[in-house]
Amino acid sequence: DQKIEKGTISIHTENIFPIIKKWLYSDHEIFLRELVSNAVDAIHKLQHINVIEGLKLTDEYAIDISVDKTAGTLSVKDNGIGMTADEIRQYINQIAFSSAEEFVQKFKDLEDKNQIIGHFGLGFYSSFMVADQVEIRSLSYQKEAKGAHWSCDGSTTYTLEECDKAERGTEIILHLNEDSKEFLEPARLRDILKKYCNFLPVAIRLEGEVANDQNPLWTRAASEIKDEEYVEFYRKLYPFSDDPLFWIHLNIDFPFHLKGILYFPRITTEFDISKSHIKLFCNQVFVSDNCPELLPEFLTPLQGCLDAPDLPLNVSRSYLQNEPQVRKIREVISGRMASKVVDLAKKDREAFGKVWDDIHTFVKYGMMRDDKFSDKVKDQVLFRTTAEMKYTTLPEYLERNKERHESKVFYANDEAAQATYLKLFKSQGLEALILDALIDSHFIQFLEMKNQGVSFERVDADVTQNLIEHDQGGKIVEGTDQKTADEKIKAAFSELLGEKKGMSVRVESLKDPSVPAMLLLAEHSRRFKEMTRM
Ligand code: ADP
Ligand code: MG
Repeated sequence: DQKIEKGTISIHTENIFPIIKKWLYSDHEIFLRELVSNAVDAIHKLQHINVIEGLKLTDEYAIDISVDKTAGTLSVKDNGIGMTADEIRQYINQIAFSSAEEFVQKFKDLEDKNQIIGHFGLGFYSSFMVADQVEIRSLSYQKEAKGAHWSCDGSTTYTLEECDKAERGTEIILHLNEDSKEFLEPARLRDILKKYCNFLPVAIRLEGEVANDQNPLWTRAASEIKDEEYVEFYRKLYPFSDDPLFWIHLNIDFPFHLKGILYFPRITTEFDISKSHIKLFCNQVFVSDNCPELLPEFLTPLQGCLDAPDLPLNVSRSYLQNEPQVRKIREVISGRMASKVVDLAKKDREAFGKVWDDIHTFVKYGMMRDDKFSDKVKDQVLFRTTAEMKYTTLPEYLERNKERHESKVFYANDEAAQATYLKLFKSQGLEALILDALIDSHFIQFLEMKNQGVSFERVDADVTQNLIEHDQGGKIVEGTDQKTADEKIKAAFSELLGEKKGMSVRVESLKDPSVPAMLLLAEHSRRFKEMTRM
């Protein structure tokens, strides 16, 4: 008969405020990204309203950032939607009451509502990480709106009053604290803007000069972009790297939004293939350059930009790891990369051969890890061959050699050590593949599993069928009959081998008379031995 009490948990701002200020972001410089993002949002909102309510505004939208060293203040000013005193009460005084959702709801039929960056209603408060006092001066776009002035010293009380403000929009003024004077230096601000705001779609002026590129390459249509522009953009992003091998341009609207340009870099010895190199953006705001989760593991070396507006601006690693959408992004990238590999292979085999040396390990690894990727690219995988064309695919090899050794693939994994065998193959007009990369021993197993009936035999494994004259034993030594000669040779070699287990002597006639004897290792027992040794 106990009564159950139900209630709402309350938060005391006095307690939570210091936590927000201290822990909201580990990097204090992020406050600038948040304020600029809000200014961009405010301008986007006004642009929407301009269309919907037919305001016929023809303003040049811009965000102005300036410092006053003597006053110790930093100001971020926009000519966006502005706020009335009531809106300040609602959106600023209530922490975590973001108006972004409300706005998107209200204008949900609009095409690019996804451009709104804000989500959580916390970003504005990051300014208290660097400021003792924050002021807002704002004039709403609404008719007969009056200017509003809000001020707060980081405690839980604020003042709000009417003020004279002639131009529509919002100005945020930060009175920087003792530890944050660095943000009075234009050079420092320029660096932060370069990092986070370099590709924002609205002009950002620092002390009057535009500091950003408003139309980064990934926002443009791929069909309009020349190869040189892609390479130039890459050089801007990674100034100390060799030119990329190739790239893909993503522009996806369904079932989620994803834009970006991903480059396959030339992998030099200095290049760290274990770490993530791409830059993640959210509506052209830089978010992070450490998001390995966004790429399939085998494509970790990819470089470039991904703009994923559906992901929140303050994404965390744990969020990315658990978000189903991130898995879909990986799948899309894997699929597009596979198509690109196929395109390159079909377009120009010789050029692809050159790129192949740089990418084969990733392609092979990807095939072993990702079935869909494997199915797409499998017929384009190149193998170095002893035949004239230098590079071949597996289906081509099998077709070419089917008369002589059906479904058998001969290969060498050490050209120098197996030179004699290769010479023997050549003299008999037989073709062998060179599979000498570290990954190839695994890849061979994989290929056999995927191509039922096809077996790979190293050049020193199984020569019976193709290199030996049948119906004949060893060469006849003069004065003896065939049988006696064979037995003598066999006895001599057996004696030399002594007790060596698992070895046997066969006397047969090789087609190439210049090779007197060969040591053969059965393919599967050799592989097994190598594996146990590893
Ligand atoms: P979020 O951006 O996630 O919504 P913020 O704490 O950054 O959260 O901002 C809270 C709200 O304050 C915004 O949603 C917006 O309504 C309002 N706001 C902040 N900055 C501006 C600005 N420059 N112009 C107009 N409104 C703003
Ligand atoms: Mg915000």
